[in-house]
Amino acid sequence: MLKHNLGYPRIGVHREFKKNCEKYWAGSICNKHFLDFSKKLRQKNWEIQKDAGLDLIPCNDFSFYDHVLDMSFLLGAIPQRYFSLLSEVEPIDLYFTMARGYQKNKRDISAMEMTKWFDSNYHYIVPEFSFSQTFFLFSKKIFDEFIQAKKILGKKAKPVLIGPISYLLLGKEKQDNFYRIDLISRIITVYIDVLNNLKNLGAEWIQLDEPFLSFHLTEKDKKAFLYAYKEIKKHAPELKIILSTYFESIDLNIDLAFNLSTEAIHVDLIQNPNQLDVILKFFPKNCFLSLGVVDGRNIWKNDYTESIKKIKKAKEVLGEERLMLAPSCSLIHVPMDLDFEYKIHPDLKERMAFAKQKLKELNDLDRIIKGETNLLQINKKERSKKSAFIHNKSVKDRVKMELMEKDLKRKNSFKIRKKIQKKKLLLPNFPTTTIGSFPQTPDLRSLRYKFKNKLISQKEYNGIIKKFIKKSIKIQEEIGLDVLVHGEFERNDMVEYFGEQLNGVLSTKNGWVQSYGSRCVKPPIIYGDVSRANDITVYWSSFAKSLTRKPIKGILTGPVTIMQWSFVRNDQNRSLTALEIAWAIRDEVQSLERAGIQIIQIDEPALREGLPLKKEKWENYFDWAIQAFHISSNVVKDETQIHTHMCYSEFNDILEYLANMDVDVISIENARSHMELLKAFYNFKYPNEIGPGIYDIHSSRIPSIEEMCSLLEKASVVLSWKKIWVNPDCGLKTRKWPETIESLKNMVKAAQIAREKLNM
Ligand code: GLN
Ligand code: ZN
Repeated sequence: MLKHNLGYPRIGVHREFKKNCEKYWAGSICNKHFLDFSKKLRQKNWEIQKDAGLDLIPCNDFSFYDHVLDMSFLLGAIPQRYFSLLSEVEPIDLYFTMARGYQKNKRDISAMEMTKWFDSNYHYIVPEFSFSQTFFLFSKKIFDEFIQAKKILGKKAKPVLIGPISYLLLGKEKQDNFYRIDLISRIITVYIDVLNNLKNLGAEWIQLDEPFLSFHLTEKDKKAFLYAYKEIKKHAPELKIILSTYFESIDLNIDLAFNLSTEAIHVDLIQNPNQLDVILKFFPKNCFLSLGVVDGRNIWKNDYTESIKKIKKAKEVLGEERLMLAPSCSLIHVPMDLDFEYKIHPDLKERMAFAKQKLKELNDLDRIIKGETNLLQINKKERSKKSAFIHNKSVKDRVKMELMEKDLKRKNSFKIRKKIQKKKLLLPNFPTTTIGSFPQTPDLRSLRYKFKNKLISQKEYNGIIKKFIKKSIKIQEEIGLDVLVHGEFERNDMVEYFGEQLNGVLSTKNGWVQSYGSRCVKPPIIYGDVSRANDITVYWSSFAKSLTRKPIKGILTGPVTIMQWSFVRNDQNRSLTALEIAWAIRDEVQSLERAGIQIIQIDEPALREGLPLKKEKWENYFDWAIQAFHISSNVVKDETQIHTHMCYSEFNDILEYLANMDVDVISIENARSHMELLKAFYNFKYPNEIGPGIYDIHSSRIPSIEEMCSLLEKASVVLSWKKIWVNPDCGLKTRKWPETIESLKNMVKAAQIAREKLNM
């Protein structure tokens, strides 16, 4: 069995890549230094994989920013607005400009759009296509990298690219009059060029990622698939292509996938193990089947017994010589190396595997198949060790409790609640508020660092955080906002912060995962039954409340988002874990209410991203996701106002579900794409109150009073003015104080103007 890997994390165990990359951007290291560093990092990664005994090792999986942008750069899909830079800057700087935009020498060129990579928390740069789009071999990166890899890995070096159909489908047309798949005949010639160049350099196996083979394809897409792979076979016949799919089963397109005449097909047997039966039934002769049996999306140790079952099943039908073994998908979605985690309890650590450990698992599985069955026993023992801290009977009892209608619903309908809340809160029309966080300054970060590393006492820390809160309340009052927040100064990250305080959840030291470009996140690990040990946010919200007569909004992260941005235990359904978290958040909501906080916002920015990739599964997802939200929020009295916040504006297809959440107020991202939002609300009358963000916090630009007035007017056309809140479109933690203050002052003015117009 050939053991191979689909992709390896590229940020370095200690985020060395991030640090070097940011230094390069800041101009504090030179081009050569940065490229040399990257070269060494790749070499290190390849050596790790070689030492792990893999037969095929990916190259070109390294990226300076994003592997989809790499494809655009390779294929010369450079949007026209960057052409003026072509002759002025180094290729690497042009590349970074496409990712990050350009504001220099009085020129302002916007970055390319970024969006989520399927249902993961990785973000890619969206290719842009025009009607007259041409493609040509532009970047040498893939060849340079292959030459480097070959020196270290010899024949084991396997270049990885996104396949032509998925590359086109990942992109967007920038004009209306064509469908991007029509570009296939233009793009395929460049692909063939690339492949033949690689072959001439000595490549034998090539991996082409076609994740879209798992989803609904139009007839045109299917035809394009057949055409593209026929061309590849015809013009690069000697190369062995591994067609790789992941994140879902290929059952919708099984015939198509088998008709593409590639040398190997990789399937994800973690996301969907059931597809194996039908795959084996129809699998083409002379093709290798690559079994994705090691989870590339989670950090738990592989269940060897399960994996061996799958391998044996495949072996019976196809024979061992036609099998390959691999992780289910690229390992960029998991942290690099568990060995650097010194603080995780050994009983738990024994159950985990990060990227490096997963490579060893492939080797073990191969050895078991070859007869070393003792490895099976060891694995069984490690995985079945009963750890006292995983299970908590009272948590389970509570979740399993027969849910009463009253636990899931507010006492009265929104209409009645609205009247009660109006009397109690005395807010003006077009009430103004923010989403929760205020600027996170370097001194604040260093304060938290010192506290975490026990360099200052709890008392000292609390004192300084209180000063931050005091300052923020004063500023908010001066600006004239109606609903105030404490500012989230004590939080590093909206999920990590809650993760640190919940039972059943742990944080890692170095468990970094790339989110986009140089940005990394450190997802908490949910390993056991989740519950709340103590109040989490009440202390800070109450302190803020003591400083002002205006209402304070308590800010919590919702159950779906906490789960979605963590590594989740795999010994029970995700829905059950979400419900456990929901009960913990419910306790916090209740504590806040008891402390006199009249408005509570439960953020669910990840609710949409948690949607299953296949639409057939949406209904079921919303069932439990909304139930989880209801459990968290619906414990309050009618007079307590529940808000939620979401970071997106594509509402059209989920608006009905959001309405079912029955929150009193929802705030959403909108400033960048109001047309989208208007369309959604034109078709569906959203019943409750809503804050369509009118200040785009994603840039340092200060929005003018006029433009925010005009956004409010636009919103008033499709939403009743009675329903509209005035707020930025997300938290302000990435902004600086001066621009924040000025922008919010303008925002408050815009609200005042809207009110005056109403009274005219
Ligand atoms: N309350 C959070 C903040 O203001 C929300 C962040 C988010 O939506 N991603 O930062
Ligand atoms: Zn947001």
